[in-house]
Amino acid sequence: MLNDTINILSLESYREQIETIELVKENNHLVYVIKQKRQNITCPTCGYMESHIHSYMKKKIVHSIHNDMSCHLLITYHRYRCKHCKQVYSEPVMLAKRYETISQYTKMNVLDDLRVSTNTFTFIGSKHNISAQTVINLFDEYVEPRRLKLSVVICMDEFYLGKRSKLKYACVLLDFVSGAIIEVFDTRHKHKLIDQLLRIPITERMAVQYVIIDMWDSYRAVIHKCFPNAKIAVDSFHVIWHLNRAMNDIRIRVMNRYKKNSSSLIHNDIYYYMLKKYYFFLVVDYDRLAKEYVIPKLKTTYTKDNLLYYLLSIDKELRAAFELKETYRDFNKTADQYTTLEDLEDLIQKFRKSSSEEMKKVGKMLHNWQAEILNSFTKVEGKRLSNSKIENKNSQIKTIMKTANGYKDFYRLRNRILFSLNKNTPIKGK
Ligand SMILES: [Zn+2]
Repeated sequence: MLNDTINILSLESYREQIETIELVKENNHLVYVIKQKRQNITCPTCGYMESHIHSYMKKKIVHSIHNDMSCHLLITYHRYRCKHCKQVYSEPVMLAKRYETISQYTKMNVLDDLRVSTNTFTFIGSKHNISAQTVINLFDEYVEPRRLKLSVVICMDEFYLGKRSKLKYACVLLDFVSGAIIEVFDTRHKHKLIDQLLRIPITERMAVQYVIIDMWDSYRAVIHKCFPNAKIAVDSFHVIWHLNRAMNDIRIRVMNRYKKNSSSLIHNDIYYYMLKKYYFFLVVDYDRLAKEYVIPKLKTTYTKDNLLYYLLSIDKELRAAFELKETYRDFNKTADQYTTLEDLEDLIQKFRKSSSEEMKKVGKMLHNWQAEILNSFTKVEGKRLSNSKIENKNSQIKTIMKTANGYKDFYRLRNRILFSLNKNTPIKGK
């Protein structure tokens, strides 16, 4: 019976110290009253072996062994009086160190729960019947993950730390192949980032071959300085994003020419109506559009071909811009390692000759980043270089920050990100 209870409570390693265990149930709360065996310890003052039992003491230790019910142990331990010098002293209490009131078992469960990025400190605290602050303290005590070794291909991106934060942006480095987060820095500022990266040994930095970034000029400078052998690739998703934004600006400019002073869309000019309602036709991939669309104002149904034709017939400039955009999209989809700078330059020329200022601007941007765009057609382990993995991690980071109540401290946030989003991050001292 005693042995069964010991097993249920996962106290096997304390078996020799336990005299009795008694279960007391208080509503939805379990209390195991444990009596410690008398221990033979010498007097800490004079070293004499013999003593009387002076009194019994109780210590409460949180022990979250059950999922559905909170549980603690009430441990009765001895105080002794030395027969020689009359000094009174206590025996050590099993399960937790002197000033601790949480069992090691509970701590490990708390740390396991902290590995799940959606678990807040508060949630974990209430689950284990301890305060959120205790969870935070445990986290700070046990979790301090090391930076991972720099990988051959690195994704680099930033995330916004929020209005209330003194620091505005953090910068994340991620291993393109494994998807693991290498490190999180508290800045995306050029010189500060260079300072921090230069602390990494040069041999490691020399081994980096590719870094994938958004079109952010500071990063380009940082990489040239810190990763001398690395080629830079810009994430093609961001190039397309800029292109779509230009397309959208042109659409709005054209659309507003047809605007009537009418409060409701349905009573507005038909061109205005169509360009506003079906704005996505100009930016979404053709394959992702539905087959047909019901047009309420015209009380008819158009196939997507007809609808696109209609929209592009509204304005010459709009059509030209759309075709240019599509040319780039095709290029982006079909280019590979054999695509040359000349191929890209031909395309850039078309942008520069465009009658739309917005597309001319895109042309400038493409020119400014042409080497990095060309590098983005490289494949590593069969996959085109991109920042999609880091975008995905960034949304998990946002979840951590949204559900956080203790990240005033950047370092704690950094630790939580590495601990929760990377697999098998060791805890301190393990
Ligand atoms: Zn003594």
